[in-house]
Amino acid sequence: MGYLVLTRKYRPQNFNEVIGQQHVTRTLMSALKDGRVGHSYLFAGPRGVGKTSVARILAKAVNCEKGVMQNPCNECGTCKAITKGNSVDVIEIDGASNRGIDEIRDLRAAVSYIPSQTRYKIYIIDEVHMLTKEAFNALLKTLEEPPSHVIFIFATTEPQKVPKTVLSRCQRFDFRLLTEKEIFQKLKKLIELESVEADDESLSLIASRAEGAIRDAEGMLEQLISYSKGKIISKDVREVFGFIGDELYIKLFKGISTRDEASIIEGVEEVAQKGCDLMEFTSGWLKFLRRLLLCNLRIKDPTTVEVNENVVKLAKSVSVEFITAALNLSADLEKDIKNISYSPIYLELAMLRMAQIPDLRDINALIEEISKPSSKEKKHVEPSQGESTINYRKTEVEPREVWERIVQAINGTRGNNFLKVFLKDADVVSFNNNCLRLRVSSTHKEHLKENIGFLKEAGKDVMGEDIEIDIIASEKPVEKALRAHPMVKKIKEIFNAEEYI
Ligand SMILES: [Zn+2]
Repeated sequence: MGYLVLTRKYRPQNFNEVIGQQHVTRTLMSALKDGRVGHSYLFAGPRGVGKTSVARILAKAVNCEKGVMQNPCNECGTCKAITKGNSVDVIEIDGASNRGIDEIRDLRAAVSYIPSQTRYKIYIIDEVHMLTKEAFNALLKTLEEPPSHVIFIFATTEPQKVPKTVLSRCQRFDFRLLTEKEIFQKLKKLIELESVEADDESLSLIASRAEGAIRDAEGMLEQLISYSKGKIISKDVREVFGFIGDELYIKLFKGISTRDEASIIEGVEEVAQKGCDLMEFTSGWLKFLRRLLLCNLRIKDPTTVEVNENVVKLAKSVSVEFITAALNLSADLEKDIKNISYSPIYLELAMLRMAQIPDLRDINALIEEISKPSSKEKKHVEPSQGESTINYRKTEVEPREVWERIVQAINGTRGNNFLKVFLKDADVVSFNNNCLRLRVSSTHKEHLKENIGFLKEAGKDVMGEDIEIDIIASEKPVEKALRAHPMVKKIKEIFNAEEYI
């Protein structure tokens, strides 16, 4: 993202200004207070979270003309020179472009000279894991017997690639990703300092997209400041970075929770037309569901900020079970994306499947209904005409197992991706007299029927003989939920009841 004006302008100048890494800065400050200065430090952690900033503050703190202190004075000539990057005794090396043995040999030769103006000569080597094996070996010799006037500060995003021999000679500090809230608050401060207006939703969008890296957030803010000329609104944020707005997520979720299939299909069409990256869409969708869940549970997540009133309202309109079930199905969708070529049709299917999630609040009402005396009098429900009776106890092979074998066989073949998605939606009803009966949502029944040949073929492969496959449309979501309810299952068990469909 290049060298950023905002990042440079507001780089933390003392340990107290560093956000999100208190576990690191506190330890460093207390060591400095006692005058304990190490000779090699390793700063490990994700990119853009403040490793180099802390390295520079440390360089100033040990070299400050006012003495080694918890925090640099930032006023003396040395502090100022280091801040400006003009100090000849603080050398920053990019490990990625100076990774060979020759560079490290040069470094070793230079290390022996005492610093010209400061107490310590400091080498900050960024992306140190990029050094070659030979370069590490050469460096190790210096680390084993470091001159008393030299301090190494290594920064890396991949500490596991740094040789153990080097690691063991360093004081290691692990930097963490910042929370959305921490980034949000920093952005809020920045717009104040820059006298720019921005609504909370914009900042929250940036904070979420930055995924823990404050440098990325600052970069985005900077882009927006020049784009929006003084007033940042969420519409601009979406336009500049191609974010999918809450409105579309809200529309889709409303469609799902009200089982409005038409509006789901329309929403997915909108996603496709906008040319959204579907992976990004799905990851955004998962984040959106998580926000709903937190709102619904009224959990004040200390790491995020919910600023959209419509999201809060929507969250209250459904049950926590419903959101959790949608989250589960969406997590499946995310897994699927990695295995199959992803097209909007899968998204649509997943969304329609979510619309089949029973509203679990209805269950309690139904249970209550059942426990009413009038209902108790009904001892037996006649199966309606044309439907058959199934007795699970007569089954010899576990129906579920038969189906799992068939699914496995089909998933193991190439192609048929479309079918593979539908398979997940099927519930096994029974396996009797070589006939496997499946129940699928009415939306998917026809698609599965079209592919019945594949299913039968796979069935023959796994069972060693021809099998019949009967596909029936599932009952209403509430009935489905009722059937799956533990209490209903218990009743069936106690009364040794048979199931009618
Ligand atoms: Zn100073």
